[in-house]
Amino acid sequence: MHPRLLHYNRIVKTWDVVIVGGGVIGLSLAWRLRRDGASVLIVEKSEPAREATYAAAGMVAHCDPHNPPALAALIAASARMYPEFVRELREESFESPDLRTAGTIAFVGEDESPGCAGARAITDDELARIEPLVSLRGRTYLLPESSVDPRKLGSALEKTLRHSGVDFVTGSPVNEVAVLAGRAAGVRTAKSFYAGDAVVNCAGAWASMIKPFGVPTRPVKGQMVCVVPGPGAHRPGPLIQHVIRTPEVYIVPRSDGRILLGSTVEEAGFDKRVDPDTVQRLHQAAANVAPAIGEMRIHEVWAGLRPGSPDDLPILGPTALPGYFAATGHYRDGILLAPVTALVMSQLLRGRKPDFDLQPFLPLRFAAKSGG
Ligand SMILES: Cc1cc2nc3c(=O)[nH]c(=O)nc-3n(C[C@H](O)[C@H](O)[C@H](O)COP(=O)(O)OP(=O)(O)OC[C@H]3O[C@@H](n4cnc5c(N)ncnc54)[C@H](O)[C@@H]3O)c2cc1C
Repeated sequence: MHPRLLHYNRIVKTWDVVIVGGGVIGLSLAWRLRRDGASVLIVEKSEPAREATYAAAGMVAHCDPHNPPALAALIAASARMYPEFVRELREESFESPDLRTAGTIAFVGEDESPGCAGARAITDDELARIEPLVSLRGRTYLLPESSVDPRKLGSALEKTLRHSGVDFVTGSPVNEVAVLAGRAAGVRTAKSFYAGDAVVNCAGAWASMIKPFGVPTRPVKGQMVCVVPGPGAHRPGPLIQHVIRTPEVYIVPRSDGRILLGSTVEEAGFDKRVDPDTVQRLHQAAANVAPAIGEMRIHEVWAGLRPGSPDDLPILGPTALPGYFAATGHYRDGILLAPVTALVMSQLLRGRKPDFDLQPFLPLRFAAKSGG
């Protein structure tokens, strides 16, 4: 599969696959497709990886007891794929997405148990030994989870794609999928048409705005706080080593010493404003876990828009329009699910049977419910 020139009324370059949206899902899919030999164009409304992907904490939280049961197989597979995904990306891009594998310390409720192999309950003594600055006590598990820095992940993916010949059009929102002879033939922006044999909607929280409609995502706001050591605190690396999750807050360390505190889950439309009371509440909740975090300085605050769907499951597969696919709606798990999404979508786009049953995630499930 290679880019070629076709004659319509004039010479038009055409791609095997046009991807709408350059977040972690669109970028990961483009990487996989390019490695399989496809020519790929990403059309992005602003800059790649600056929306939900940029906002994310980056937990690869495959043991979280709140993960939807319907997603168990995809989540487990994606978590297994992560080390290799990151290793290959590092080799190709010479950039590191800061994969951290110390694990997650999870404070869980009486009736909750983590849903993965290798999770084990830990005692207060063990907690004090492995994370001495954590003073909170409770029912605690050590989970074999990892985390990445999604900003670095996005930048590494973009770099490797540009080096491997994937084309980008940035600053151009796609308005609609072009239809020719009853099938998708490319995409239209306000100024241009880009021809493709297949189109994949990876537009995250905005996916529902692209015509023909039928990929019903909605924005679910999440506010985040990043703290750093105050002046005079000369300590290399992060103050804590593990991701820590409590019902009130999660705490995600980065190797450069930053610590992220999250998050809210808000139905607030496309509003990305940050609320000072929420920032204060998250900082205080983290200080209750580890008082030293309360001494840290707020370095950055932001909000991002998770792509939710009507049943909060991803939307993966062909739409009612032949040649038009969706890969979006990853809600709280898009960083975690990127490798397996790229795998199954690339299999579908090559006409192969995907390794996993995508029935619960097909876009057509919403058309069936509404009767049209
Ligand atoms: C605060 C917060 C914390 C999170 N933490 C985690 C976590 O720890 N672990 C995890 O797995 N997930 C986490 N998530 C969820 C994760 O960020 C998302 O599921 C994931 O980023 C979705 O990726 P995406 O590529 O579908 O969407 P996005 O990253 O939003 O990318 C969509 C892209 O499409 C572009 N676009 C939109 N409309 C158009 C258009 N019309 N034309 C062209 N381009 C368009 C956008 O500009 C954007 O670049 C978090 C999210 C938030 C907000």
